[in-house]
Amino acid sequence: MGSPVLFLVIPCYNEEAVLPLTIPLFDAVMRDLIAREAISADSKILFVNDGSTDGTWQLLAQKCREDALYEAISLSRNCGHQRALYAGVMEVRGRCDCIVTADCDGQDDVSVIGQMLERYEQGADIVYGVRNSRRADSFAKRHTAHLFYRFLHLLGAETVYDHADFRLITSRVADALAEFDEVDLYLRGIVPLVGFESACVTYERGERLGGKSRYSPARMFSLALDAVTGFSVRPLRIISAVGCMVSLLSFIGIIWTFFQYFSGNTVWGWSSTLCVLCFVSGVQLISLGVVGEYIGRIYMEVKGRPRYIIAKRIRGDSRDASGLQAQERKEK
Ligand code: UDP
Ligand code: MG
Repeated sequence: MGSPVLFLVIPCYNEEAVLPLTIPLFDAVMRDLIAREAISADSKILFVNDGSTDGTWQLLAQKCREDALYEAISLSRNCGHQRALYAGVMEVRGRCDCIVTADCDGQDDVSVIGQMLERYEQGADIVYGVRNSRRADSFAKRHTAHLFYRFLHLLGAETVYDHADFRLITSRVADALAEFDEVDLYLRGIVPLVGFESACVTYERGERLGGKSRYSPARMFSLALDAVTGFSVRPLRIISAVGCMVSLLSFIGIIWTFFQYFSGNTVWGWSSTLCVLCFVSGVQLISLGVVGEYIGRIYMEVKGRPRYIIAKRIRGDSRDASGLQAQERKEK
């Protein structure tokens, strides 16, 4: 068996500050793996430009023109990290044996790809990169992340603890992923659902080498909502349980009201009435919100809109013989 063809897929969103620092790292790791024949010489790095508004695309296009190791696609607008990753995986599946996805900011230690490949050779179809510490994260991020994983587990959505989107998958896992039609993508939840044999490789997650995080608290919250509602209907069951409890309390309250009425104590009671009213309307609104969240998602899924649109693509076969004049092929 020859060495596997590997594609390293890297999403980038407004990353002109960090790419000049991290591209040499990716480059060195890939060339070293090729030199050691751990991967085939046809292996490549694919950048996914996720609708950047700075000079990211120009930088990536330039790199592709200079060097046949690189390919790039550009999405028509910013679609978010998960969709950008998915677009990259869909772009390369069928042309390789395995795919590694990693962030472009240097936080994922690409030097462990060698270890991932060893697990792959031993038969794993999915190799998760699991961070061995969160020292690089801020206090708030570290603690919200832990709470989040626990919360997800409680709700019954299976994810790999402390694994982000740094992983190796084989082409058959990518093919299986292509069967998942959901618009709200949460790959950390979907990949374990695919099944097959999996393994983990631990790595030290470093700090961002430049630029700043593209995940605002609002985006993280939205990702968390995708994770919960996309993989568990337990919140709906919790609502039913709370509804039963509140109904039981209400029933006791009604008996108590009758009792008070017949004992002639009905003048006072303003505070208790208001408290009950506030409590019940609060519970109702929250429940309605949760149900609405699911309905909204059904609405978006039913439309079945494309998750991303590729606007430009630079591939090896669009490069001329000198390897210098890659054409940006516009998608029809
Ligand atoms: N990213 C993306 N689209 C987005 C947001 C982020 O492609 O809308 C990319 C980003 O360029 C980086 C990766 O996703 O390669 C992870 O983002 P970031 O480092 O900002 O997240 P953090 O590490 O802070 O969670
Ligand atoms: Mg990062």
